[in-house]
Order: sequence, then structure tokens, then C-alpha cells
Amino acid sequence: MEESSAVVLRGSRCSQCGTVAFPESTMCSKCVTPTADPLTLSTEGVVWAYTIQRFAPKSPPYVPPAESFSPYAVGYVELPEGIKVEAILDCDHFDELDRAPVSLVAISPVPRFAVGRFTTQGASQ
Ligand SMILES: [Zn+2]
Repeated sequence: MEESSAVVLRGSRCSQCGTVAFPESTMCSKCVTPTADPLTLSTEGVVWAYTIQRFAPKSPPYVPPAESFSPYAVGYVELPEGIKVEAILDCDHFDELDRAPVSLVAISPVPRFAVGRFTTQGASQ
């Protein structure tokens, strides 16, 4: 796997019951078996739920942008692996987020997805 520079989320899959976890863990949260294997998660998913952050979060840990704060969306993205990842959601209009297809655009400091399908990687099993 030569994905050292790729924007991907690293999760894990339990070798006993198949439960997928994010972030990566060596211990299954469902069957409590210490046998989870690393798994590169899909970079495309669907917005499962979201809300709008309309005021600046407490700082620290939030680092306000140099320009003034503007509202942004946060929510859960459901991936083909069957898990939901909490992420910041980039979009032009908040009302387009409901069940919108999104693609991973950043992983640090937190996962960030943007509305649309523009990555080349499909769902991986
Ligand atoms: Zn398990």
C-alpha cells in the first residue's frame, strides 16, 4: 500500500466479528477481542446527520480563523463500511447537506468532507 501521502482515514476491522471502527483500534468495541486489523476507510460517503455551528466554539481548543468566524456544518458521514465518522462538512449552502454525497478532503486536525463526488477511489472492501 503506497498511500503515505493520500488523504485517507485509518480505521480497523475486527477479525472475529467484522465490526469496523474509527479511529483505528487494536481492540474491538463490540466483542472486546484484541484482534482488530488496520483498514483504510472509503473516502466517499453520505451525510447521515448534521448541525450548524453558528457561534465560535470555546477557545482553546478552537482556533478562530484570522478572518472573522463564520458558521460551519458538522455532522456524521456514513461510509460504505457501515460506520459513521464525525466530521466538518464543507458546502456552499447548508440546505444541500441532507443525505448529500460527500468526499474526504482532509484528515487533520479533524476529518473534513466536502459535498460532491470528486475522488477517484471507490468503496473498498
Ligand atoms: Zn469484534
